[in-house]
Amino acid sequence: MKFAKRVQQIKPSPTMAMAAKAKAMAAKGISITDFGLGEPDFNTPAAAAEAGIRAIQQGFTKYTPPSGTEELKEAVCRKLKKENNLDYEKKEIIVSCGAKHTLYNIAQVLFERGDEVIIPAPYWVSYPDQVLLNDATPVIVETREEDQFLMTPEQLKRAITPRTKAVILNYPSNPTGSSYTAKHLEALAGVLSDAPVWIISDEIYEKFIYDGVAHTSIASLGPELKRKTIVVNGVSKAYAMTGWRIGYAAGPKEIIDAMGTVQSQSTSNPTSISQKAAAAALQGSDAFIKTMVAEFDRRRLFVVERLNQIRGIRCPRPVGSFYVFPNIKGLIGTGYKGYQIKGSTDLASFLLEEGGISTIPGEAFGAEGYLRLSYAVSREVLSEGVEKLKNAVLKLS
Ligand SMILES: *Cc1c(COP(=O)(O)O)cnc(C)c1O
Repeated sequence: MKFAKRVQQIKPSPTMAMAAKAKAMAAKGISITDFGLGEPDFNTPAAAAEAGIRAIQQGFTKYTPPSGTEELKEAVCRKLKKENNLDYEKKEIIVSCGAKHTLYNIAQVLFERGDEVIIPAPYWVSYPDQVLLNDATPVIVETREEDQFLMTPEQLKRAITPRTKAVILNYPSNPTGSSYTAKHLEALAGVLSDAPVWIISDEIYEKFIYDGVAHTSIASLGPELKRKTIVVNGVSKAYAMTGWRIGYAAGPKEIIDAMGTVQSQSTSNPTSISQKAAAAALQGSDAFIKTMVAEFDRRRLFVVERLNQIRGIRCPRPVGSFYVFPNIKGLIGTGYKGYQIKGSTDLASFLLEEGGISTIPGEAFGAEGYLRLSYAVSREVLSEGVEKLKNAVLKLS
């Protein structure tokens, strides 16, 4: 049997593959500390969960309009106005089955053979593969640790060609935790000012931002930018609702309409029950987010300090998301028993098999020489895990 070529170009999400390997070891009774997680360890806020339960009990269990309910779109518009200083109408909003699906719809609508899509590395694992699935070409821009892994305006300028269709920005970033300031975004926008290039702005970690840094959406920097930007967000991270699968996009009506057509012929509407829960989350108080983010901040400071005490590891303090992205280049070339650490993938395998710690190699994000650790685990687990990591690293020589 022959499958379509596009399938041969992509691979299963490496973060999910690592999670599966760790789960398989745990099932055998091996104690694994999981730093591979890409979701908050908090429960969905009660108000959102109860709205979901009520939706079931009240029979709100049928198809909704394919692009989402009026209620949820209204809640999204209010959120964007209040929190991001962005004016959108309901017809400029589409709700999808998670922000990953939102991004996929965008890729389906915009990309085709011959198009180039600029993706700064380290990148979220799904961006290049979603570009490839639509026959376009990812153009990876390698950012530097000394630039906080942020793409410079010069790097962006060099990457643009007449074929450039879009640039994907993710701030705060998964995996690095870095984020663009308003000033930095303005500089990038300046490079794009006369290029007919779409800006896909993935702001799913906007709430996870520390050290007094403010999140600014690039679309809020002026009407011209807003016209070429598609803002992507969702409730997965901010409200610990990853399993509910609700994401959304805000953008010019034509592109939102086209995404709606694709969605109406593929998934139809996102789950009716989840839409009720998401609307309740967006309309609820922000006490939940404040409590969660304060806890993540404490963990962030803890894990950065502890990792920096380990020989061969250097961990910058990221301003956002819930990941740290330590430099492990000092461990390359070391070994232990049958293990030869030639790169981040070798190190992650060694840490999992020999140390019982699950991490994601930087290679998966297009950045060799780094490791991604999620601190979306309790402080006890974090403390125990870092100790295990230190002991495993001590074996390497
Ligand atoms: C988690 C994540 C998403 C998608 O989340 P959904 O659960 O699909 O809403 C999108 N972008 C980045 C960078 C993420 O880490």
